[in-house]
Amino acid sequence: MSVSNMSIISIKSDIKNRARLKSEIFNRSSNIELIKKELSSYIVDFRENISCSSIIIIYKDTQLSEIITKIQSLFHTTIKQSTAAADSICGVNSNCSNCSIKTDSNPLSFKRKLIEFGLLTGYSVYLFAVKNILGVTVLASPLSVMALVSVVAAIPLFKESYEDIKNGEFSLQTFMSGTLILAILFGEAMAAFEIIYILRGGMLLEEYVATKSKNQIKNLIELDVQNAYVLVDDVEVQVPLEEVSVGDVVVCRSGDKLPVDGLIVDGSGHIDESLINGRSESIYKEKESDVFAGTLCESGRVYIKVTAVGEDRYISKVMQDVEKSLALKSPSQIEADLLAKKLLRLGSILTLGTLALTGSFINAFSVMIIMSCPCSTILAASTAISAGIANGAKLGILIKGGESLEKVSQSEVFCFDKTGTLTTGKPIIKDIVTAKGVDKNSLMEYLAIAEYRNTHPIALSIQEKAKELKIEASQTAKTEVIPGYGVKSVYGEHTIVAGNKKLLEKESITTERFEDQVFHHLNEAKTIVYVCVNEKLLGYITLEHEVRAGTSKMISDLRKKGVKHIALITGDEEKVAQSFANNLGFDTVYANQSPHDKANAIEELKKQYKNVVMVGDGVNDTLAMSKADVAISFASGGSEMAIEVSDIAVTHSHPEDVVNLYNLSKKSLEVVNQNYWIGTSTNLIGAAFASIGLLSPAAAGAIHIGHTTSIMANSSRLAIDNNS
Ligand code: ADP
Ligand code: MG
Repeated sequence: MSVSNMSIISIKSDIKNRARLKSEIFNRSSNIELIKKELSSYIVDFRENISCSSIIIIYKDTQLSEIITKIQSLFHTTIKQSTAAADSICGVNSNCSNCSIKTDSNPLSFKRKLIEFGLLTGYSVYLFAVKNILGVTVLASPLSVMALVSVVAAIPLFKESYEDIKNGEFSLQTFMSGTLILAILFGEAMAAFEIIYILRGGMLLEEYVATKSKNQIKNLIELDVQNAYVLVDDVEVQVPLEEVSVGDVVVCRSGDKLPVDGLIVDGSGHIDESLINGRSESIYKEKESDVFAGTLCESGRVYIKVTAVGEDRYISKVMQDVEKSLALKSPSQIEADLLAKKLLRLGSILTLGTLALTGSFINAFSVMIIMSCPCSTILAASTAISAGIANGAKLGILIKGGESLEKVSQSEVFCFDKTGTLTTGKPIIKDIVTAKGVDKNSLMEYLAIAEYRNTHPIALSIQEKAKELKIEASQTAKTEVIPGYGVKSVYGEHTIVAGNKKLLEKESITTERFEDQVFHHLNEAKTIVYVCVNEKLLGYITLEHEVRAGTSKMISDLRKKGVKHIALITGDEEKVAQSFANNLGFDTVYANQSPHDKANAIEELKKQYKNVVMVGDGVNDTLAMSKADVAISFASGGSEMAIEVSDIAVTHSHPEDVVNLYNLSKKSLEVVNQNYWIGTSTNLIGAAFASIGLLSPAAAGAIHIGHTTSIMANSSRLAIDNNS
């Protein structure tokens, strides 16, 4: 059929009935349609990423081998089982043949297209000069040089339409090739040249915008580490990253980007983990701490026992997640595809109609030329959305897919988690209050034991305070983290319970004896963490949270933009939450929320409003985030889950980035709409003029150049703008 016998299908992954396949046969929509039809009875979900030549299928009642055999018989291809760690984001991965053509790693193809386009531009300048300056008539007959140049320039287009015709499909390419050939045959080589000139220019521009956005995302999450230093018999040996395996000990020094996930077995250093959890301040890590690939060793030296390499690394999983989401079309892209199909049909009808009504071939041609690029409507959405995603990446906002980008500015409710999201990474311990006969240091020691290796903001402050007080906390306790409540830890004969009032109620421990003092502290909006050992309340500590700079402005800005409802959803106590919310201007406060309560609050709001955004740090809000229409991770609690479950990750955790994101979303949609307007209106008005003979084929071609380039230029404005 439409593919040569040499095509190869690589199985990139096949886990639990979900397979990702890659092949050059997947880079044509007509082939995808055929496959979909053939496999319809086995496929639960089918997603294609044509520009990446890959498909993701979720299948049932069959084996992958059977599915592949079916595709094989459709296209007569050979199959190659690939084990390469190629599951990565399109345009980032050098193993992806399509991507490597499009990105810097192999700029030849783009360069070649640019040169070819340059030659065509030179030729059109020459034509213009000859015609308008010298006043010489340029031959436009079927056998003229112009006709020849047009045909040569259109070879790639002819090839594509030949494939489509063989498949019995009437595609855009077929329509355009038909227009070109007819124009040449009827002595309108000038119009033919114009069509192909715009087409080549448009393709080039689209590639430029797409490459730019992919590179931006690539820069944001790329692990540009090629080599690692592995400890062999106490000597550091440099080896290529592929040769590092689980169990090896890798050495990283200040300035190094960590190449693997692992556990520090020796040494210590300050690690900047902003890439994976958004914390702006680096964390001091020593023996027994987990570290992740892609984070930066700012100072010190760490010896890391490798726990994950290649695709198993946390950041690689995030990339796969991003890739999956980017492969999905956004609502406006889906709309654009439909519109393009309608315009193609309309174009054919108008062309034939004009011919039938006016009997003029020239008029029909002009209509055909004007209508021959409904692709401009497809470009209208796709270029704007990918440019928007690229601009997000530049601001440190990782947007996984166009749908989320579009939804942000269509949301009526924004919900925010408090601790770790709107407050900075580390609260400040203000008071240590103990029961009679209990020493403050021993209370802190129990706390430090229970919070050992916990990454919750409160736990981090406790660890720091313990260090300040020179308390060496034991590391042997068995601890259970109870999200939204606190921790429960068994240390020898001691059971330590540390957390909020709700946790103590759950454990049936009364807080009565401290009631008056606590009341006073709560009025000061301090968070209380109670400490109990063997069901006896030893005392509590109070913490003051530092609100992230710009939070109040973010809330008022969102309101000005038209967000209807802004809610605070927190696990902290009513009083603390209320005072926090009143100072910052929230509409509602949900306090004392467990992870389930948070999710319920989102469900409630979803019933009343259109689109609900949840901004959280993923510590106890992953469930709520998964219920929201758009989940934004704004991490600082150290939760690696946050970026994974979110649709959008704000890596710098700046509140103003939420407003930037909102603006970006709004602007992307505006550009999509402007583009539609440019595309459709010029098409239709032009076709009307052409049908009554007011536009020559050459003028129709010129209009076409105008509208396609304006769409491209309008979209690339989004990628170039630094802020919106
Ligand atoms: P938020 O919902 O504002 O992000 P969290 O759900 O992270 O807050 O925490 C809610 C409350 O649970 C905290 O105010 C604190 O009282 C208690 N808590 C949570 N984690 C811990 C911990 N590791 N140690 C002690 N208390 C904790
Ligand atoms: Mg939180």
